Amino acid sequence: MSVEDLATIRYLTTTSFGFGASALLGEVLTELGIVRPLVVTDPGVRAAGIADRVVADAEVTWFDRTPPNPTEAAVLEATEMFRVAGCDGIVAIGGGSSIDLAKGVALIATHPAPLVDYAAVNGGVERITARVARTVAIPTTAGTGSEVGRAAMINVGGRKLDFMSPHLFPARALCDPALTLDLPPFLTAATGMDALTHCLETYLSPLVNPPAEAIALDGVRRATRWIERATTDGHDREARWNMMMASTEGALTFQKGLGAVHAMAHPLGALEGLPLHHGTLNAVLLPAVLRFNEPAAPEKLAQLRQVVGAEGDLGSWVAGLIARLGLPSGLAAMGVPADVLPRIAAEAERDPATETNARPATRADYEELLRFSMAS
Ligand SMILES: [Zn+2]
Repeated sequence: MSVEDLATIRYLTTTSFGFGASALLGEVLTELGIVRPLVVTDPGVRAAGIADRVVADAEVTWFDRTPPNPTEAAVLEATEMFRVAGCDGIVAIGGGSSIDLAKGVALIATHPAPLVDYAAVNGGVERITARVARTVAIPTTAGTGSEVGRAAMINVGGRKLDFMSPHLFPARALCDPALTLDLPPFLTAATGMDALTHCLETYLSPLVNPPAEAIALDGVRRATRWIERATTDGHDREARWNMMMASTEGALTFQKGLGAVHAMAHPLGALEGLPLHHGTLNAVLLPAVLRFNEPAAPEKLAQLRQVVGAEGDLGSWVAGLIARLGLPSGLAAMGVPADVLPRIAAEAERDPATETNARPATRADYEELLRFSMAS
């Protein structure tokens, strides 16, 4: 860190956090002046009755077909429903996919097509204006923290693209840990590892933002302390509260930039015919990246080891945690074929998250990290 660098520090979304927060939806919609909301959710959350319980008797239009990784086709389908029903705002109820898809709708329902023009890699950040439709985000997992984030990951033409703008922050977030009580163990562990990865990668990012680093450390402390309890006993309210807080903190902090784990998880998550879970990908990629970053940030890694109580290197500690959580031991176990690795490495090098990795990573570095992560 240098005192000569300019820091950008942004905390915008008003968040109501705690058991019962989702019951504030009606009040919040009135406050925002939204009378005809489009509710964006996924088939699982709808089938479990969670979304209907949150919406209660409010009059809404439903889009409940969010795919596991949001695609442009799904965004356009939901946007059509938004237009036909004359909607004036969006309520996203679900995991990161539903919230990201909602951000895509909020954007393209109010801006000229095509969606791809607004991707960060295409210079889209400047094109996204205050016209973006207002969104109330209600997470049902504790992982992405997308409810307080300014980014959406959407698969456009086989590439997972990052859409980023301060205008994409949801207008309000209602974080209700009660909605996560019945999340199955595997999803609890995988999404929780996403939250932990956000905190770890952000803390190690070289950009200057001390408040973000303080939030990241608190998130690491909560996630590592509670993830096993939340996974083994889903109805532990204290564990669920802390994991949701770690998730929200992860997204509050990651404006400071992510790193090599996310740079590889993004192209891997876009592999056709292989719907790989983002959090699980992060989990299996973490040990190799933490070891790779060690020489570039020895003091920060020492601090992290202290926070989690690791004896040896942090990569090995994380690998142990992943095994205890019952997550896959590597990319090979997730079904990733070795022949895609060179292409993934090339895409990882181009991913915006690469720029803020603690240690500069080349395409060759990425190939090595990926090979190592096949079985870590
Ligand atoms: Zn993530």
